[in-house]
Amino acid sequence: MRLLIMGPQGVGKGTQAALLAEHYQIPAISTGDIFRYNLKNQTDLGKKVQAFIDKGELVPDQLTNSIIKDRLAMEDAQQGWILDGYPRNAAQVEALDQMLAELETPLDKVLALQADRQVLMDRMTKRAEIEGRSDDTPDVIARRLDVYAKETKPLLDIYKDRGLLLEINGVGQIDQISKTVISQLDHLDHTV
Ligand code: AMP
Repeated sequence: MRLLIMGPQGVGKGTQAALLAEHYQIPAISTGDIFRYNLKNQTDLGKKVQAFIDKGELVPDQLTNSIIKDRLAMEDAQQGWILDGYPRNAAQVEALDQMLAELETPLDKVLALQADRQVLMDRMTKRAEIEGRSDDTPDVIARRLDVYAKETKPLLDIYKDRGLLLEINGVGQIDQISKTVISQLDHLDHTV
């Protein structure tokens, strides 16, 4: 199973990615988590990306693409993966297309989780209280949602045109959403 999880910040991508990873026994790869790990440990990469993340801007493509390229080459990613938070703009879609063509491993499906802006703002404000992320302040949250609307949301049309898009409502019980996703993906398995 090679899957992208897309959708705005706060829609529950990370939660669903973890449940799907468990179900399919494949790694969930989150560029946001990789960046946060590097920020926390103040690595060279962490220092390079800090200013972008703190402002809610996208990290430059070259850095992001090379992280994904290295990660997809790792042993545990050979049987499949779930990418959470990548690709996020048209250039990253192109870079991923190229990587997957070289690896001869096409995408199976693109899962798009959806929710209203107000629901997302509320969820992220709550998460900020719990996790204390430096980019979960109201201004940065709003900026990240704007960047999503401008740069990332249009990518859904690209995957829709390729017949890969599976759109699911991200508001509701976590377990129920994951069951719906898995049943749709399993159905896909049986039909191909
Ligand atoms: P996330 O946890 O996915 O919301 O990511 C947190 C932050 O990491 C984003 O606001 C960006 O600054 C950066 N980031 C994560 N993924 C990407 C990506 N694919 N391209 C560029 N920047 C990213």
